Parts: sequence; C-alpha cells; structure tokens
Amino acid sequence: MEAVAAMASGAEERDQGGEAPCLLELVCEECGRLNDEPGLVACGGCGSPLRRE
Ligand SMILES: [Zn+2]
Repeated sequence: MEAVAAMASGAEERDQGGEAPCLLELVCEECGRLNDEPGLVACGGCGSPLRRE
C-alpha cells in the first residue's frame, strides 16, 4: 500500500504549515472539510461527491 503511505506523509506536511496544492482537490467545495482519508469518494462532512479520481 505505497499510496497510503504517501498520503500519510502528505498529512504530516500539512501540519507543519499551509496546505499543499495537491490537497486542494480533497477539500469539499460545499463545506470546506478536508477529506484526506485514503479511498474516500464522498465528503465525510456533508456527503458531497469528491472530484478526486
Ligand atoms: Zn462537505
């Protein structure tokens, strides 16, 4: 599961200040929730579909 490890690393960078551009697609347009859970296809806050492929 190398993809999962990569996303975990990205989350650590986010904590260090500022959101990486690659995370913008994970932010819900409806409620602004950051949906950084691997494999999530819909917003965990409001249920809106995410644009991630
Ligand atoms: Zn949402």
